[in-house]
Amino acid sequence: MRRILKGKGLSPGRVRGKAALAVHMPVRKTEAKPVQFSEEIRRFFKAISAAKRDLEILRSRIVKTYKKQEASDIISTYLMFIDDPSFLDSVTDKIRRGYSAYDAITEFFDEILEKFKRIDDKYLREREKDIKYVRRYILTKLFEAEINWDDILKRGDILIIPFISPVDVLYLSDKGFKGVIVERGSETSHTSILARALSLPMVKYPDATEVLEDGQELLIDGAEGIIIVEPEESDGVSERVEIKPIGEPRTSDGVYVDIFANIDFPEEAVTVKAYGAKGVGIFRTEYLYMTSKDWPSEEQQVDYIRRLLNYVGDLPVTIRIADLGGEKIPIYAEFLREVLNYRGIRFFMHEERLFRTHIRAILKAFSGRSLRLLIPMVSSPYEVKWVKTVMDEELGGISEKPEEILLGAMIETPAGVMSSAEICEDVDFVSVGTNDLMSFSFGIDRELKVPDYLEPPENLTLIRMLKEIYDAASGKEITVCGEVARDRLYLPYILAIGIRRLSINPAFIPDLVSELNRISVKDVKLEGLK
Ligand code: PEP
Ligand code: MG
Repeated sequence: MRRILKGKGLSPGRVRGKAALAVHMPVRKTEAKPVQFSEEIRRFFKAISAAKRDLEILRSRIVKTYKKQEASDIISTYLMFIDDPSFLDSVTDKIRRGYSAYDAITEFFDEILEKFKRIDDKYLREREKDIKYVRRYILTKLFEAEINWDDILKRGDILIIPFISPVDVLYLSDKGFKGVIVERGSETSHTSILARALSLPMVKYPDATEVLEDGQELLIDGAEGIIIVEPEESDGVSERVEIKPIGEPRTSDGVYVDIFANIDFPEEAVTVKAYGAKGVGIFRTEYLYMTSKDWPSEEQQVDYIRRLLNYVGDLPVTIRIADLGGEKIPIYAEFLREVLNYRGIRFFMHEERLFRTHIRAILKAFSGRSLRLLIPMVSSPYEVKWVKTVMDEELGGISEKPEEILLGAMIETPAGVMSSAEICEDVDFVSVGTNDLMSFSFGIDRELKVPDYLEPPENLTLIRMLKEIYDAASGKEITVCGEVARDRLYLPYILAIGIRRLSINPAFIPDLVSELNRISVKDVKLEGLK
């Protein structure tokens, strides 16, 4: 029977297809040979750390959104369980005896659940549900570590999965999935940003893997955030979204704004042009690293950037040094996870050889042109100076070079805001990465929405930081990037500060123009802001 579920839209597009659930790995008894033990144990620990991270996010959401101490205590118990040496020892011991990680975990939990059945205490018996929940989490994580998209695609083309990483989105889109339903994620996560870049419709529905079934006919609408189970013919699917030039990006009281786009792939420049946006505000070079099988060579990087320049033509473009780390870790660099905790420019400061290849490729690709180079995650003027020194050294060794180089700093950490005056002295322009700045300022994962009381008009912390950076820039070009730049709660303040350049995901450019046309700036009060 036709049923409509209301979730949250993360990436627009209306498609129809068959549900393919990706939760558990099929039961598999592997005859692991001794040489494979360490690999299997590594998979197990990878799943454990992913499950822990998940549960920690869930705990913070429960505390912040529902303020339910008991619920957060339960999650703390799960976390203690996952960290319990007897669990970790027992599973690794089973793996050493030839079990696959999946079988070892399953058997461990079967044994515990068996003991629980014999307990005559109602309270403890209730905990059985919790144990099953922990098992599900760990197995899901184990499964996610080695998803076989081809197998899933045989069952259906609308993927239903608890959570996916940006790398997975790239595979999904390549493999031919029509859409995705996730249980967790937010508009500002890199996963959603990428889904929008790849025109892969995505809807978030918290209990999706529980309420939807394999093989069900579904229609999902990533703009409305709805899922229709067993849709009717009349429900229709959308035609490809027609990209038309935008109207005037002007507020109702006449403030004109320059709109730029943040893009992840060279081909997206076509969309930016079709909208008639001013240019590319950020080209995220990290996706070349994410889609390669190994560290891309200098030649591969030059080709890739030249491909971008071909699409861009005369449009202004700001190219960003790869912002690797955090959730953007290429598969082949998993072993560098520790180092990749140094996000953005700090990763390259640690891996200077990789940076030299990267910067040489950028300089060569821009030979004869003007280069606008943006440094991600700048937290100290030292980082800008470091980039300049290395870049100057590399410039000395190459003959093809840009005609002009303009250097920009991306301010997206509280430390960056506090040092913005010194940072701005060393650069030609600044961009504010509000997605990360919000996350690092409020201590909220990018996956999660900031609670209302931390947003304008109740809370003007972010606005205050923007004003501080604007003042520090003292007339130098400043652009606000990230989803806040299209949010009606923030826009009037951003413009009242004096900022006139916004750079957002291209899919939302028409919405931003409509929003600008509706708002006015003249009545916004900034008194009290430093
Ligand atoms: C940001 O942090 O706001 C930003 C635009 O950069 P990214 O989304 O690539 O982290
Ligand atoms: Mg950022």
